[in-house]
Amino acid sequence: MRAVYFKDGEVELREVPEPSGEGVRVRVRSVAICGSDLHMLELKSPLNCVIGHEVAGVLDDGTPVAVEPSMPCWECASCRAGDYNLCALGSGRSLGVGCDGGMADELRVPGSCLVYLPSNIDVRDACLVEPLAVAVHGMRQAGLEAGQRVAVVGGGAIGLCAVAVARAGNATVGISARYDHQMAAGKSFGAGGIEGSYDLVVDCAGTEKAVNSAIKMCRPKGKILVLGTHWNGLLLQHIQVMMKEITIVSSFMYAANGAVRDFDLAAMLLSRHPEIARVLITHRFPLAEIKQAFAVARDRKAGAIKVVLEP
Ligand SMILES: [Zn+2]
Ligand SMILES: [Zn+2]
Repeated sequence: MRAVYFKDGEVELREVPEPSGEGVRVRVRSVAICGSDLHMLELKSPLNCVIGHEVAGVLDDGTPVAVEPSMPCWECASCRAGDYNLCALGSGRSLGVGCDGGMADELRVPGSCLVYLPSNIDVRDACLVEPLAVAVHGMRQAGLEAGQRVAVVGGGAIGLCAVAVARAGNATVGISARYDHQMAAGKSFGAGGIEGSYDLVVDCAGTEKAVNSAIKMCRPKGKILVLGTHWNGLLLQHIQVMMKEITIVSSFMYAANGAVRDFDLAAMLLSRHPEIARVLITHRFPLAEIKQAFAVARDRKAGAIKVVLEP
């Protein structure tokens, strides 16, 4: 089968043996390129596994599924509490980061990774369940409530997923984004511009500038949810945080609240709002055009939001 690897800062499509052994086979139908894939590629990180963690496909009997790319131990204190994103084993066992992911014709995963999809979701769109689950988990961490005023800073895929999740939670949402096509996408999900102060401000840009502008937008006693990844640390204007008694909320991947996984809620959201896929997925490529797909994903000015590969 074909599978995508990183090699010296380049993407490489290789012919490799089909995965065998334990687990359930998923034939990949959609796998999206994530900002963290681009970041790892730029770092020339020496990943020695198949990349791709935003994955959906079909089982051998044709059942469509999204793949939750977590392989926690299910036994440590965090796992037992449902916080398996914080498993004591760390995130090195995540599919597409430490273990073989889904940018391939197929992958093999433990049954616990399977997320069965509501019947109206097209499996070609279901790779979006993963970034939506990131936003669902973040809003859960921040304790989003109906009627709140939420500002989203950053109009990439996670920012737009945050808009969609906050709107579905009946919040009033404002967005600030760098590019016109991102603003247009946010507005199509029901967000306005930024005006006044907010109960919750969500950093989805992952820059110091974004967080410090979030501090300005946040009301006294409000919250800032940091969904952006600050790979090189973050210098906060802490005096402002202190003088408004702002709560900074962090969020990592996705987990479960009782029996309900963030992934399940994300799949339900996509089922109720199929327009999310129409707006977010701007490009689709066959797996053979992997280099072109990454080039498009890297060039945000060119209008890409989510670039999806269809093996
Ligand atoms: Zn991702
Ligand atoms: Zn664990």
